[in-house]
Amino acid sequence: MTKILKINPISPEPSKIKEAAEVIKNGGTVAFPTETVYGLGADALNLEAIRKVFKAKGRPSDNPLIVHISSIEDLRLISKRYSSAALALMDKFWPGPLTLILKKKKIVSEIVTGGLDTVAVRIPDNKIALSLIKMAGVPLVAPSANLSGRPSPTRAKDVAADLSGKVDVIIDGGKTRIGIESTVIDMTTSPPTLLRPGGLPVEEIEKVVGLVQRLSVSHEKEPAKSPGMKYRHYAPKARMVIVEGDSEAVQSDIRELAEKSLKDGKKVGILAFHIDFRVKGCITKYAGSRPGTVAGRLFDLLRAFDRDGVDLIISEPYGGEGLKLGIADRLKRAAGHK
Ligand code: AMP
Ligand code: MG
Repeated sequence: MTKILKINPISPEPSKIKEAAEVIKNGGTVAFPTETVYGLGADALNLEAIRKVFKAKGRPSDNPLIVHISSIEDLRLISKRYSSAALALMDKFWPGPLTLILKKKKIVSEIVTGGLDTVAVRIPDNKIALSLIKMAGVPLVAPSANLSGRPSPTRAKDVAADLSGKVDVIIDGGKTRIGIESTVIDMTTSPPTLLRPGGLPVEEIEKVVGLVQRLSVSHEKEPAKSPGMKYRHYAPKARMVIVEGDSEAVQSDIRELAEKSLKDGKKVGILAFHIDFRVKGCITKYAGSRPGTVAGRLFDLLRAFDRDGVDLIISEPYGGEGLKLGIADRLKRAAGHK
């Protein structure tokens, strides 16, 4: 049985936070909002609890988990050393959508780190998340609270759609502010390495630590450093393709592909970033054009296409610098790079 706990995101009720924290302390699983997406939390020092997280999500065991803490002091427990550059990033961006890869301490199990000797850690910028971690008194693992491979949840009802009956508690704390996951930076390399673009633009990070190297990630050649990146991710049930090219060609190519698919009897969805772009007979959803808006809507729209039962999603391209880089990454992975 899964209990839904509605908690006020602006001033979380202590009695409800306490109830959820007790579940964590007893080795249970609690889905909770962060500023990025909803996470599925469990005691990061309790192996049984961590196994429940992998099982509920159907997550491959070599995909490491991010450890969530509530203050920089908590870091002493899980990481033995880190550079002054890492400390500068923590000072500037925590709490916030930045995950740092650091050398782990023995107490952190390889079950958490996917067999690596490094640990991923961050402080989320969400009052419910912070008070839950504090009251539980332990660091929490908290991968996105979706079935492995599905679009991440930005609302409690998305969590329930994937994990109802599989987790102990789902906290409903409203819609998440950012909508895509944290930026992951490996601080054990020199220069630091961007492993996953996300909610914090890498350009902001470079203002503090200088150059951050990008991995050229193709889906065939995977960086050994971050095993989680090799799985098709964030994916709707429908087949999905992105049509690339200059914007006029893109729109006519999308029309052509859509019309052909409609003729074949398919239910077709269009993911649009231009407000006036519509294709007759298709379910068109507008994601916005400003990156802040798109990030907030992307996963929600992919899930909405699934609820509509579309067979094929055809997407306009989207990308660029800053937050756009993270959005483009999610979009491409959702389409399996097609
Ligand atoms: P999720 O919890 O679904 O947001 O995914 C967490 C992601 O963080 C993983 O898929 C990895 O890409 C990355 N990650 C976590 N721990 C490590 C680590 N120790 N080294 C490299 N990447 C990591
Ligand atoms: Mg995830």
